Amino acid sequence: MLAIPAAPPAASETGAPDELIVRFEPGLTAADRLAVREEAGADLARTLPVPGMQLLAVEPGQSAADAERALESAEGVLYAEPNAVRSAFLRPNDPYFRELWAMENTGQSIRGAAGSPDADSDVAEAWDAGIGGGTVVAVIDTGVDGGHPDLAANMWRNAGESGAGREANGLDDDLNGQADDWRGWDFVSADNDPADANGHGTHVSGTIAGDRGNGVGVAGIADGARILPLRVLDGTGSGRVSDVILAYAYAFQMGARVVNLSLGSTSSSRAERDAIAAFPTMLFVAAAGNGGADGVGDDNDALATYPCAYLLPNVVCVAASDNRDALAGFSNYGATSVDLAAPGVSIASTWPGGGYSWSSGTSMATPHVSGAAALLWAAAPGSLPTDISSSLLSGTDAKPAFTGRTGTGGRLNVLRSLRMVADVGVGAPAPAPEPGGSGGEPGQGGSGPGSGPGTSRGPSFGVGDAVAPRLSLKPARRQQLSAIVRRGFLVRVRCSEACTVRMALRRRGRTLSLPVRTQLAAGRSKRVRVRVNGAGLRALRNRRIAGLRLVARATDRARNTRRLIVPVRFST
Ligand code: CA
Ligand code: CA
Ligand code: CA
Repeated sequence: MLAIPAAPPAASETGAPDELIVRFEPGLTAADRLAVREEAGADLARTLPVPGMQLLAVEPGQSAADAERALESAEGVLYAEPNAVRSAFLRPNDPYFRELWAMENTGQSIRGAAGSPDADSDVAEAWDAGIGGGTVVAVIDTGVDGGHPDLAANMWRNAGESGAGREANGLDDDLNGQADDWRGWDFVSADNDPADANGHGTHVSGTIAGDRGNGVGVAGIADGARILPLRVLDGTGSGRVSDVILAYAYAFQMGARVVNLSLGSTSSSRAERDAIAAFPTMLFVAAAGNGGADGVGDDNDALATYPCAYLLPNVVCVAASDNRDALAGFSNYGATSVDLAAPGVSIASTWPGGGYSWSSGTSMATPHVSGAAALLWAAAPGSLPTDISSSLLSGTDAKPAFTGRTGTGGRLNVLRSLRMVADVGVGAPAPAPEPGGSGGEPGQGGSGPGSGPGTSRGPSFGVGDAVAPRLSLKPARRQQLSAIVRRGFLVRVRCSEACTVRMALRRRGRTLSLPVRTQLAAGRSKRVRVRVNGAGLRALRNRRIAGLRLVARATDRARNTRRLIVPVRFST
């Protein structure tokens, strides 16, 4: 079944009218924050995953603008802002599948427009280089039809919520904050089914990781990448920046390296900027936008589109090109704010219900770059986001149409970019990132592809390693309170790389256990007992147990640390 893509909504730029995002200064107590909220007439809706950041609901009868002003002027508040709207950057188009000019352009006519041979992103040539996938790409969008025959094999799956009925037992088995999130998360409906009620996110996903060589439909740029669907836009393609921020944190928590953002608006959000800066290990690939109400592309240097325009080292901003290497008429541009162009006119890709559709937009250009980033990362897993982005940018094909319209003046070339990271070498020490990230000239030749993925976990990557280890804690099931008192709390600990883990039982700021310190090899799990101390024995025997937590801190060889807190549960 083919659905007609929804027209882009006439984006209200004012945001959710009765919601505000606030960021408090560090060091405030909960009581201080409560006092500030009460004074401003706003209630806590939920905390957001950046220190001091909260989503607030303005009290009925109170003006949101007044509440925002009161917060802004309050002691201890860094800033307050409306919860901005974010919209999908899709141009309406007729759904019909024909040919993927963006992958390999032989000059074929696409929907009546003759192409220029080689005005493509050299993906077919990059495939010939034989590089596989495996990179997790978060598609923060309208959801994804994960059952689509061209996507099903490449959907991310949460191992911690899979098997033995864990998909539907109502429990947060992997303790990541969401129950039964085996296939991503729907932040719009707050449930575990990120299905696509629009089509946009499914289209984007097919460009990133449509199954290649399965004899049906289309082929994605990074076949073998894993699509992590995070739904933040509703059926009309509209959503709230607070949900986008929550999705960033989820993507980070579950190990995504690339975040595809075929969405945005002209509303800047300091909260969103802070969130992107708080997750520097992920590369955020964002659409430049489609020119506002008239559909004619605008200069983002003058009227910025966000998140594209945040000047952060882990953001790449993408304009749309057509099959003759011209800038798409609808595409925003910007000599300083937009980085590169990628194919975004008449792109065929997957559509909900198992079908295919043509679509145009900077939304369609962005996943070409995200897929390329995933491909590069699969070839050089030790790369930093700045390594990947500088390779994507310096690997572009310079074209006159993009001179002065994008920072690079070029259009994506996957093969040239891939050669840049392949020179860095799988298995060779990753060079420290250059400040500013231009060029990315490899120092010495590496051993080349062949030593396989996974080498990034080795100690040789200590030099450029800015990535904290991923840590998982799985408490043993059905631990009796009496057993914990006598023998300690039993937990299985696992680290994504070699690390040292320190753990403690804590309640209301007090440590209730003896010190625990253990060494873990990469990817190996270990059962560890955390034994209670004297204060812990008294607390547990007197049933002072509410709010008891296990706090763990993992430190890798480069001294990156990750903290994880899980509730302590037991049977009595
Ligand atoms: Ca070519
Ligand atoms: Ca979970
Ligand atoms: Ca579950």
